[in-house]
Amino acid sequence: MKKEKALVVFSGGQDSTTCLFWAQQQFGEVAAVTFNYNQRHKLELEVAENIARNLGIEHHQLDMSLLHQLAPTALTRSDIQIEEREGELPSTFVPGRNLLFLSFAAILAKQIGAKHIITGVCETDFSGYPDCRDIFIKSCNVTINLALDDQLVLHTPLMWLNKAQTWKLADDLGRLNYVREQTLTCYNGIAADGCGECPACKLRINGLHEYLKEKEGAAL
Ligand SMILES: [Zn+2]
Repeated sequence: MKKEKALVVFSGGQDSTTCLFWAQQQFGEVAAVTFNYNQRHKLELEVAENIARNLGIEHHQLDMSLLHQLAPTALTRSDIQIEEREGELPSTFVPGRNLLFLSFAAILAKQIGAKHIITGVCETDFSGYPDCRDIFIKSCNVTINLALDDQLVLHTPLMWLNKAQTWKLADDLGRLNYVREQTLTCYNGIAADGCGECPACKLRINGLHEYLKEKEGAAL
């Protein structure tokens, strides 16, 4: 496994950046792919580009602007508010996004000779996205291999981790500060610790505090 090439689905956020470092530890060669789908913040693309350049990683950007046509939701349209209601899918939901992304990632992986695809999806902080579930990823892996007549492997190192454990993984990889300072998760487009108010920031900062507290406790 060590010598093979891997492709990371990469947004420049905490999760996919942690996956990038995980992949660097696991595989001989790592490339990244970022999907451009008219995100609210072009800054997200710049952040991804900067991190990839900074780490010297082969970086591909794929234009997925058609998602804008298909999914008029809060991540792609600035005129729609980000809301989360109990028991409903959040307004950031772009239906089928991962299905599309993983299909395109697989085609790219085949072209660049990558045998492994890594995605930072996670069932633990499950926000209602059905195509972030483990069962979907396994099904998608089978479908991709049938479609391409290949043996690609989808990896989801964060699938069963909560946010605190994802911070721990970054720390174990020796990259906690890098992930904290260089990535962008905030829905309001503020890098590093973010705005502190949006759902993404709250999840991220609460996880960080939980992890740092545990680490402090363990050190005493
Ligand atoms: Zn925020």
